[in-house]
Amino acid sequence: YILNLLVDKYKSLGGELRMDAEVDIINSRRGEFKSLNLVGGEELAADALISSMGRIETLKCCDPSLKEVVGNESVGEVSFMESLFALNREPRDLGYTQSIVFFCTENQFRYEVPVDLIDISSGVLCCPNNFKYPKPLSEGMIRLTNLASFRLWDALPRREYINAKKEWRTKALENLFTFFPDFRDSVVFSDTFTPKTIFKYTGHINGAVYGSPRKAKDGTTPIRNLFICGTDQGFLGIVGATLSGISMANLHILQRGTS
Ligand SMILES: Cc1cc2nc3c(=O)[nH]c(=O)nc-3n(C[C@H](O)[C@H](O)[C@H](O)COP(=O)(O)OP(=O)(O)OC[C@H]3O[C@@H](n4cnc5c(N)ncnc54)[C@H](O)[C@@H]3O)c2cc1C
Repeated sequence: YILNLLVDKYKSLGGELRMDAEVDIINSRRGEFKSLNLVGGEELAADALISSMGRIETLKCCDPSLKEVVGNESVGEVSFMESLFALNREPRDLGYTQSIVFFCTENQFRYEVPVDLIDISSGVLCCPNNFKYPKPLSEGMIRLTNLASFRLWDALPRREYINAKKEWRTKALENLFTFFPDFRDSVVFSDTFTPKTIFKYTGHINGAVYGSPRKAKDGTTPIRNLFICGTDQGFLGIVGATLSGISMANLHILQRGTS
């Protein structure tokens, strides 16, 4: 709902939204942003650029190169494996009555990159059907999320990667079912994504869901008029990233009247 609202507002103000337009190079001259080149070569010039690619990911695109600055940046490492289970009934019919549960099956919760492909001892269990939507969802759905290591997933050859997804999904479920009801008989479809998937779709190094541990609170970069918004600016999550974009546009663009 919120995305459609924002897109409509953006377009009504004359904004143009371009999909499938990968930024290749961010050009600066004498330390000031000038233009960017898309993959394919098209050049787009502007007074300022606000990037949500991530801080280090943005700096890596800069020409002239910011190699030294990039080398000193902290890179995020926290990532996840998530499995989605489509069910032939509502989760609550199987004993799942909450919309979200954060769990840990050991005495100590470890918020760190796991030593195995995933850490099955903790996770997030999500049942979207139990959320108060305006109308019920069309199918039952349960999602299980565990901390995961990008490095280990990335090192697997293709076939082993596919097998490992099944193997670790099974292990994660078996651990979950030590204290939650077994729903496997009701699963009609399942799929699993890993830190590699997150990297593929977001471009964030290490599939780091929450970006760099070092936040650029004012959104500035070593390049004048090149700004960062989103999770690397400091606000986390979907609402945080949205607020970040609004805040950075207000702070750096609208108040100064640049375009
Ligand atoms: C699987 C998953 C589940 C999550 N679940 C939740 C949740 O339930 N609730 C919640 O609040 N948060 C959740 N998050 C976190 C939330 O999605 C992020 O915090 C938020 O999206 C960060 O926003 P962002 O704008 O900083 O980065 P992103 O949303 O990652 O956006 C970065 C964008 O930059 C684009 N991009 C990258 N490189 C280039 C390039 N070279 N050229 C052009 N475009 C480029 C990417 O395609 C992407 O669209 C989840 C994240 C993941 C990965």
